[in-house]
Amino acid sequence: MRIYPFFIPHAGCPHRCIFCRQEKISGRLFPPDPVAVGTQLEQMLTGRRGGEVAFYGGSFTSLSPASQEAYLAAVVPSLSSGRVDGIRVSARPDALGEEQVAFLREWGVTTVEIGVQSFAPEVLQRSERGHGAEAVFSSVPRLRRAGLQVGLQLMPGLPGGDRAEALRSLDAALALSPDFLRIYPTVVLRGTPLANEYLAGRYRPWPLELAVDLCADMARRCRHQNVPVIRWGLHNQPELTNGATLLAGPWHPAFGQLVRARLWFRALSVLAAQGEREVTVPRVEFSDAQGHRCDNLRSLRERYPGFVLFGDPNLEPHTLRSAAGQASLWSFSAYSPEELVI
Ligand code: SF4
Repeated sequence: MRIYPFFIPHAGCPHRCIFCRQEKISGRLFPPDPVAVGTQLEQMLTGRRGGEVAFYGGSFTSLSPASQEAYLAAVVPSLSSGRVDGIRVSARPDALGEEQVAFLREWGVTTVEIGVQSFAPEVLQRSERGHGAEAVFSSVPRLRRAGLQVGLQLMPGLPGGDRAEALRSLDAALALSPDFLRIYPTVVLRGTPLANEYLAGRYRPWPLELAVDLCADMARRCRHQNVPVIRWGLHNQPELTNGATLLAGPWHPAFGQLVRARLWFRALSVLAAQGEREVTVPRVEFSDAQGHRCDNLRSLRERYPGFVLFGDPNLEPHTLRSAAGQASLWSFSAYSPEELVI
C-alpha cells in the first residue's frame, strides 16, 4: 500500500524510552505545521490516488485534541474526495482508551500502529516504557471493535531481553492477530540513556549476524501465522549512515534483505548438503537467494564446489526447484549453527 508519511518526532509522548531519539531516526527535528501537511500532501498526491496518509514518530493520541484535529483536518479533504483511502497513526498502547479510539474513528483514521516493543515486564520496565503488556492486550481488541486495522511494532534485543524473550514476545503479538508487524532489532543511538548503559558496559547490543538469524526465525513464525512483516530494521537515513547518530547495534542499510537472504541460505544449504548442485529459484527472488553482495552464493560454493543457482520467471514465489523436485522455502526448518544461537 502506498503511504504518504508525515513525522511528528516524539510530539505528545509523555515518556522518554531509554532507546528513543525519534528526531534522529525520523530525520526531522520538529513536528510539521498542520497547514504545511495539507500543502505537502497536495504535492505528494499529484497524479496519484489511493493509499494512506500516515502520522508517524511520536504518540499521535498523546497530542492535545486540538493538535490531533489540526493534523487530521489537513487530510480530510483528500479523504472525503476519495484521493486517499485512509489515515494511519502511530501511538503508545496506553494512549488508546475508549475515547481516544472513538475520536480516531470519527476522524476517519483507518489504521493504528502500536509501539509494543516487548511483552516481557522486565524488558518494558528496563526500557522505561511507562506501560505494561496489559495496555496492549486491552487496546488491540478496542481498536478492532472500532473497525480499525492494527499494526504492532516489536524491538528484539532491548535490555533484559534475549532470543527466547524475543520469540515469546513475537508469539504474544501473533496471538493478537495483528494485520501486520514491524520488527526493529534494538540499536544504540547517541544521546540516549541506552547509549549511557552501553558506554558503561551494562548493555551489550546484539551483533548483526545474530539479529539477522533471529529475525529469520521470526519471519518463519510470522509466515506460519499469515501475518506480514512490513518492515525489518530502521530505514536507511543519512542520520544513521554518517556515524553521528548510530553508536552501536545490528543496523544495516539492507537489513530486510539480509533476513530474506538468510532464509534462502538455510534452504539452499540443506539442498546442497543433500548433494544438489543446481537449484532454481524465482527470478524475482534471485537477488535475495544469492545473498547481499552474493554472500550466500560465495559461501555455498566454498562449501559445495560446483554449486549453481538459476532464476526462473515462471516459478512460484518462495519456491526452490532441484533434481530432487520442488519445495517451499518455508518447508525448511530453522537452521541455526550452534555458534549463531543467541
Ligand atoms: S513511546 Fe515512542 S515516542 Fe515515546 S519515548 Fe517511547 S519510543 Fe519515543
